Amino acid sequence: MRLALLGWPVAHSRSPAMHRAALEALGIDGVYEAVPVPPGGLAEALRALRATGIDGFNVTVPHKRAIASHLDATEPVATRIGAVNTVLRVGNAWMGTNTDAEGFVRGLREGGFDPKAPALILGAGGAARAVAAGLVNAGANVEVAARRDAQARGLTELGATAIPWADLETAFARARLVVQATSATLSEETAVPFVQELPWDALQRPACVDLVYDPSPSFFLQRAAAVGCDIQDGFPMLLHQGAIAFERWTSLPAPLSAMRAALHPRGAK
Ligand code: NDP
Repeated sequence: MRLALLGWPVAHSRSPAMHRAALEALGIDGVYEAVPVPPGGLAEALRALRATGIDGFNVTVPHKRAIASHLDATEPVATRIGAVNTVLRVGNAWMGTNTDAEGFVRGLREGGFDPKAPALILGAGGAARAVAAGLVNAGANVEVAARRDAQARGLTELGATAIPWADLETAFARARLVVQATSATLSEETAVPFVQELPWDALQRPACVDLVYDPSPSFFLQRAAAVGCDIQDGFPMLLHQGAIAFERWTSLPAPLSAMRAALHPRGAK
């Protein structure tokens, strides 16, 4: 079986280790390669991949949106979110789907959190759209706030309610689940001012999730834990979006413990 990840950059990605561990755990003779594809290089990369007889692949930044126009079809979940993270071969056709939405919800449930709890999503990029789609589908009342209010309003088409960034305090008081879906917490330089400006005093000790998994716990999660919230980092979403993709490619149950161990090679949480 031939699988791959297309992105730019991809060298840092943990997906190859996770999927190779899954193939090995099930005794499947296969490869999962990280393929660096620069912006604008998708058409050429896809031609080369087809020639290798590839069975399926993942897509990451910056191609999650652009890939759709190169495929034969996309499943409704990917069309709704506006992003494809997984491509399946169906006969001779390429079908795009999105496993981030369901992966996030599975990760929440695994952590003992309720995906139907009234939720507030911070940020309105691609990951936020997937989380909103997953939570709305699970039956939650979902609010979203982003520093650009117009970007947050884009998520109303997914069934979320846009909250002006200026009204964050009242939204914090309502939320029973807060999902940090911006990229602000990736580095200390941007995380510190972002986290310091949030209205922590308004929180009613909701569960707090940060989609970022490196660093973990992020500065956002450290602060949330300090005010008494239960926390979850981005690893459960990463694991479960991968597990769902693996199941779609192989029609076999994903070997979760092998995949989880590959994501935490040093025995971390
Ligand atoms: P996008 O670039 O699509 O969106 C980023 C969002 O963050 C935008 O709304 C952006 O606003 C906002 N943002 C960035 N910096 C700040 C800041 N300083 N203050 C407030 N808002 C800010 O990225 P993605 O949605 O794809 O990814 C978001 C995060 O989620 C990333 O850190 C990524 O690593 C993580 N992720 C984790 C996954 C997992 O499996 N755990 C899966 C996918 C993503 P603006 O447009 O105004 O800049």
